[in-house]
Amino acid sequence: MKEDYLRFEEEFLSEYATKSINTKGRAILIEPCSLRTEFQRDRDRILHSKSFRRLKHKTQVFLSPGGDHYRTRLTHTLEVTQIARTISRALCLNEDLTEAIALGHDLGHTPFGHAGERVLRAKTGHFEHNEQSLRVVDIIEKLNLTYEVRDGILNHRLGQTPITLEGRVVSISDRIAYLTHDIEDAVRAGILKEEDIPSSIECVLGKGKGKKIDSLVKDVIKASYGRNEISMSEVVGEEMAKLREFMFNEVYGSVVAKKEEKKAVRMLGILFDYFYAHPEDIPELYKTISDDPIVNIKDYIAGMSDNYAEKIFSSHFIPKGWEDQL
Ligand code: MG
Repeated sequence: MKEDYLRFEEEFLSEYATKSINTKGRAILIEPCSLRTEFQRDRDRILHSKSFRRLKHKTQVFLSPGGDHYRTRLTHTLEVTQIARTISRALCLNEDLTEAIALGHDLGHTPFGHAGERVLRAKTGHFEHNEQSLRVVDIIEKLNLTYEVRDGILNHRLGQTPITLEGRVVSISDRIAYLTHDIEDAVRAGILKEEDIPSSIECVLGKGKGKKIDSLVKDVIKASYGRNEISMSEVVGEEMAKLREFMFNEVYGSVVAKKEEKKAVRMLGILFDYFYAHPEDIPELYKTISDDPIVNIKDYIAGMSDNYAEKIFSSHFIPKGWEDQL
């Protein structure tokens, strides 16, 4: 029962963990749940949202991948969550808070990954996916989450510092997850060969995805155990930074990965202009949120999955032939 779990948090979590009983709470007060703590409720609210289900058809790195084995935003999110829970549990932090933040961190990602983000930034003057993630849970889905979950979602990017250690665990787990799984996807796509990864990096982090995740996770745990911060050893941190740089040069910025991106940018740009000229075609839901048509289009397009964006584009711009009548 919930009482047992609250006692567990009190007795077994680290002094630096965020106990659910100490939450700063929600914008709108709600009746306590008889079974779940506030962070467990937030995790469930995110998991049951429409925006969460849309992650399955949103690009991680490779656009609308034809193969079932490439990551999507959904599988990326699940991998981040699992890594973050492992670290959180080992550090005796609040695993429920960690899980809720991790499940929600990428809800604001646009279709077609960072290409979509760039289009919305160019069209509206400002767009950041972490800010949009918070907008999704607060304003679009109206999930009324706790302060700590909202803070972790908003501040999950490199260079930001969430107020809770659980939020910081998610931030570092996000990087561990994408760097390691994007290598695997890049090899699958033929952009990279395992042998291309500099041996100096593999000497420290190990060969293969499993080994790399294992060394990074264990290093974070070792460097952060019993401390009021989440960090890595200098040696491993340096190699991870080198791996990140390598991935940016060889994969994220590669000509092959970028080729299809241009088409995605063009398509989303055309969609944006179309809805600007035809606000009547923007779903009512978005118009009830803001009177500003630019904000409506931004929320609508940011929420689209790759598939949905293609479908809407095709319904407005590709002529439909007549079917045979039987
Ligand atoms: Mg992420």
